Amino acid sequence: MQIRIISSGSKGNSMLFRAGDMYGMVDAGLTLRALTPRLEEAGVPFRGLDHILVTHGHLDHARSAGALAKRHHATVHCPEAMMQNRSVARAPRLSNTSDGMDTELLGEHGDKVRLQAVALPHDCHPTLAYKLTHDDRCLVVLSDIGRPDRQVAQRLSGAHVLMLEFNHCTEMLEAGPYPDSLKRRVGGDQGHLSNEQSQEMLTWLAGENLHTLVLTHLSAKNNQPEIALNCAMETLDKLGLSHIKVLIAKQEESLEPIQV
Ligand SMILES: [Zn+2]
Ligand SMILES: [Zn+2]
Repeated sequence: MQIRIISSGSKGNSMLFRAGDMYGMVDAGLTLRALTPRLEEAGVPFRGLDHILVTHGHLDHARSAGALAKRHHATVHCPEAMMQNRSVARAPRLSNTSDGMDTELLGEHGDKVRLQAVALPHDCHPTLAYKLTHDDRCLVVLSDIGRPDRQVAQRLSGAHVLMLEFNHCTEMLEAGPYPDSLKRRVGGDQGHLSNEQSQEMLTWLAGENLHTLVLTHLSAKNNQPEIALNCAMETLDKLGLSHIKVLIAKQEESLEPIQV
């Protein structure tokens, strides 16, 4: 399985995966206009997307899922609670995802990807993390989680590639430009992970399979790539895993493809 992170951050999140002839996406948080050239650049053929998985209803994840699904004749997989949302209304097919789900995504040419979902504490209910497995290689997409949760980490163990939210630096959030209510939301236990909290999750999640860690959903105002990177490296060093490759997902451009 190969993945490509199309965009990541508070303005929109999206990740493309390819397993054999099957193309899928996790989240479609950019506008269709912004997504289209990035998917072309990634080589997605005309009507080539088979599945679009949405983690939760916040627009930075769901924005154009329905419109993109309509264009590609794809199935949108999302929590039942968001099936009435405008963001997915135009999807030709909707399929329900929920906590504890363990199912298979099927491609037109017989490709299969195992899909597992785990519910996260976040202020949009439900919010799901997804674990995708193809040919015994495993990808975990874990973002928008308000606090470290050991059980969540245990249920998502075994990743070869881990996409983990490193949202904000606590000091920068406190001193930053957000109004107090938003600071409380982001920093609260239904909001987003601080760098320190992400380090804690990483301690539980980093296992013997892991070869690439991607830091995602970095706040443009309340974090800096170097700070998040240092935090991740510090934790990996402590775990004796300093050989693991660490990448930072970007808002404005796609990353190079990653082989899971
Ligand atoms: Zn988000
Ligand atoms: Zn969210």
